Amino acid sequence: MLESVVIIGSGPAAHTAAIYLSRANLRPLLFEGFMAGGIGAGGQLTVTNDVENFPGFPEAISGADLMERMRLQSEKYGTRIRTETITKVNLTEKPFRIYTEAGEEITARALIVATGATAKILHVKGEERLWQKGISACAVCDGALPIYRNKELAVIGGGDTAMEAAFHLTHFASKVLIIHRRDKLRASAVMQERVLTHPKVEFLWNYEVDEILGENKVEGLRLRSTETGLLKEIPIGGIFYSIGHKPNTGFLDGALELDRYDYIQVAPGTSRTSVEGVFAAGDVCDPLHQQAIVAAGSGCKAALECEDFLR
Ligand code: FAD
Ligand code: NDP
Repeated sequence: MLESVVIIGSGPAAHTAAIYLSRANLRPLLFEGFMAGGIGAGGQLTVTNDVENFPGFPEAISGADLMERMRLQSEKYGTRIRTETITKVNLTEKPFRIYTEAGEEITARALIVATGATAKILHVKGEERLWQKGISACAVCDGALPIYRNKELAVIGGGDTAMEAAFHLTHFASKVLIIHRRDKLRASAVMQERVLTHPKVEFLWNYEVDEILGENKVEGLRLRSTETGLLKEIPIGGIFYSIGHKPNTGFLDGALELDRYDYIQVAPGTSRTSVEGVFAAGDVCDPLHQQAIVAAGSGCKAALECEDFLR
């Protein structure tokens, strides 16, 4: 059967696109993945606790509940959802060919890619036990939570995300310590400037995390000098990973144009990719914003542009 439109992904971008396309009677087929990119169906929000900045939920809502509601809303209007990961696509001719992990071929007139990105983690001792108990991979999302307020917080990384995270955390923390494995920042000059002179920000150069310490919440860090290999312990009230994201684009294998960080390139202000009839939405094409509401908005945009293309 030739599908009108296939959506790949399961986060706010994919489900917003699905809600719009199903309400337009286009009966989208959505592949939500099975532990694709290391995260279960529902995407990145399923690995966090309270979401306090998605409009409409003044009391906050758990990330898992928010995604379950979006999934229900997609299904309510006729989206067909399959819990399978897409491993290959052929976009060189129409209809497009999309392949599941089991090798099944699906043909479609249009495609929306909303496979998101995965925040990189350190894989150090203590991380699994204390995850979300003082460790976060998103300062903008979690920085204002009570467990981080008026504490000394550590930011790991030396790129723009780390600078942005540190600056954001200065609003809540008593002190922000940026721990970087080298003595030079990767961040752009303008982003560096904002924190280098900030009275609440300090830098610890040439150190990496060896272990995160604490019983039931983060209480400190064991650090290793990247110059001498020597270890030292410091007290800390929370730790924010800002070591980059990996967009989930491996399965595209050259089918769409990507930027140098492997994010899908879209025509400015649109969701149009390098192949006509293929649209991208959410974190997979946006390294800068990476927020649920932005992903949802771009899913809407992709759906409207896709509908226009199909009609
Ligand atoms: P994602 O949420 O990244 O979901 C994409 C999903 O698609 C993948 O996870 C996977 O399940 C599926 N998929 C991937 N590849 C395939 C494939 N090949 N086949 C099928 N399925 C596939 N934002 C906020 O606004 N507020 C917050 O409080 C907040 N907290 C956060 C806390 C944490 C710890 C993290 C990591 C992020 C947080 N964010 C928050 C950011 C937010 O989660 C993301 O910006 C948003 O989820 C991006 O949505 P998305 O639709 O682009 O895709
Ligand atoms: P980057 O890849 O630019 O930086 C990642 C940082 O994390 C680097 O400093 C890197 O160190 C460090 N790092 C990576 N792995 C580890 C590890 N295992 N242990 C310790 N440190 C580690 O990622 P960003 O997310 O910062 O930025 C991605 C893109 O998004 C960039 O193009 C950036 O410009 C853009 N961006 C722009 C913003 C803006 O302009 N407002 C805001 C946020 C992002 P090292 O330097 O040694 O490699």
